[in-house]
Amino acid sequence: MLAAVTRSPGVMAIDNVQEPGPPGPQDVIIRPEVVGICGSDLHVYSGDVGALSGARSFFPRVQGHEFSAVVEQVGQDCPGGIRAGDRVTVWPLHACGRCYPCRVGRANACVSLELVGIHRDGGLQQLLRVPASQVFGVGDLGPEPAAFVEPTSIAVHALDRAGIRAGQQVVILGAGPIGLATTLVATAAGARVMATDPVAARRDLALKLGAENVAWGSDAELLAAVAAWTRRQGPPRVIDTTGDPAALAQAAHMVSAAGRVVVVGMSAAAAPLRSGVFPEKEIDVVGSSCATAADFRAAVRLVRANREPVTALFSHRFPLARAREAIECVADATSGAVKVLITLASQE
Ligand SMILES: [Zn+2]
Ligand SMILES: [Zn+2]
Repeated sequence: MLAAVTRSPGVMAIDNVQEPGPPGPQDVIIRPEVVGICGSDLHVYSGDVGALSGARSFFPRVQGHEFSAVVEQVGQDCPGGIRAGDRVTVWPLHACGRCYPCRVGRANACVSLELVGIHRDGGLQQLLRVPASQVFGVGDLGPEPAAFVEPTSIAVHALDRAGIRAGQQVVILGAGPIGLATTLVATAAGARVMATDPVAARRDLALKLGAENVAWGSDAELLAAVAAWTRRQGPPRVIDTTGDPAALAQAAHMVSAAGRVVVVGMSAAAAPLRSGVFPEKEIDVVGSSCATAADFRAAVRLVRANREPVTALFSHRFPLARAREAIECVADATSGAVKVLITLASQE
């Protein structure tokens, strides 16, 4: 069978690889259909793994952690409810079950977590074996929106960390796929969203996904727009999805006193931040990592209920044979990429 193998940083090839064989008793064999490519894939592809948790061996690796698939074979001890032919998506998280975060019920922050498609082989291949507990049925959802469940689960978890309430104003920094998913989930929770992004087309998508307001400009212009929107109070919640360390300083500056900043975007760079802003405004700054199984379940529901607007995010499609071009498309700031998809199978 064929797989897109990232052999070393910047080197991806389509290889003939061994099929996974029969499933173990609690595993399923799935046939990936559509794989979404995101910034994390770019980090792995380029070898910039410092931005990802842990400095483990990444190569060679079959990437792809956001994907839809069809169940081919079900292990003999799998729970009922998963049948051959079902369309599913994969919760990519494997946690150790023993470390402090795992013991306090936060396996998504496990110190030795492994993600399918990053630390383990993922969806950019024709067949894949995964534990049955990692697959979530998506019903009649199409293969493309089903591939957007994983990024939506990241947004669900970020909003859980934000502790958002209906009617609350939230500024979402960045309107890439995660920022847009966060806009969708926040709006569905009844929050009022202002989204910021330098790219006009992304700001338009944010409006389409339910943002009340969008803004961009110089630092001062952006802060003025946020101040006007919040009647000079500052938003009680700011969610940074940019991965730009400068955005953290901006978030801490604009958030309301007693407010909360959630950092979702990853970066290996240091943030230029005046530490006095924490006690002066008594703000909470929290990180958000991956997603729990419950977040993932909620994401399936949200994507099923919003399949139309979600489809507007799919900007580019490539076949598996051109997987490398798909990654380069995400990396190219001039490509107009929002969510880039790789299509493996044609079954609908
Ligand atoms: Zn991703
Ligand atoms: Zn753990």
